[in-house]
Amino acid sequence: MLSVEALTAGYGRIPVVSDISMEVEAGRITAVLGANGAGKTTLVKALGGLIRPMAGRVLIAGRDITGADPSTATRAGVRLLLDGHRVFPDLSVHDNLKIAAITTGSRREFELLCDEYFEVFPILKQKRKDYARTLSGGQQQILALTQALLCQPKVLLCDEPSIGIAQALIPTILKELRNFASRGGAVVLVEQQIQMSLKVSDTALVMDRGSIRLSGLASDLMSDDRIRKIYMGN
Ligand code: ATP
Repeated sequence: MLSVEALTAGYGRIPVVSDISMEVEAGRITAVLGANGAGKTTLVKALGGLIRPMAGRVLIAGRDITGADPSTATRAGVRLLLDGHRVFPDLSVHDNLKIAAITTGSRREFELLCDEYFEVFPILKQKRKDYARTLSGGQQQILALTQALLCQPKVLLCDEPSIGIAQALIPTILKELRNFASRGGAVVLVEQQIQMSLKVSDTALVMDRGSIRLSGLASDLMSDDRIRKIYMGN
């Protein structure tokens, strides 16, 4: 579903990530790991059209979206969930969800999906008439995630979705990412919490100073001591 070929991207003329190649199939989750500053956010921003790659290609279901702006990337089926819970503060929770799902299916389908997520995240149901700005940071992050899921993108790029979320809710969030994948979506999951993200993912790659240093099945990497060495800068 997502195919990345020898991607180089950065800011201004300075490359931050180089020669990144990866594939994420439909129904699969790929964890992107790496220490602070390794280039994880830069990579997902380049995949989501927020920064223009300097070299390489990004394909969604075979369609080349390299260098596409965010709206074109969105129309091609990419959804980027960045940290900082970017919701519309002066709209109600329910209206935020409606807007997110504007391009998906019928109203009936939206309401059914909405009810499903209200079951998973009861706080959204409880506060559905409240302004989004009245939610706590963690609640806004849940709203942003639910918006992303409601869009039913082909590829969901999640940059540290667990940040700011109550520890007890993190397994629920990861389960929803798994459910999303089981419906045919492809997920790129950037996370600092290594074991937790490896548990939920099918494959993983570990970045160091803008390059992929290690990749493979998440189940194999779980016991691979090289991850720790990469995090510790060898
Ligand atoms: P973290 O886990 O801390 O979020 P990361 O792996 O996501 O780190 P990035 O945020 O992609 O890493 O940053 C990689 C490098 O790019 C860092 O050296 C950072 O200072 C630099 N960088 C990030 N954003 C910008 C920007 N807007 N302009 C210039 N340099 C940037």
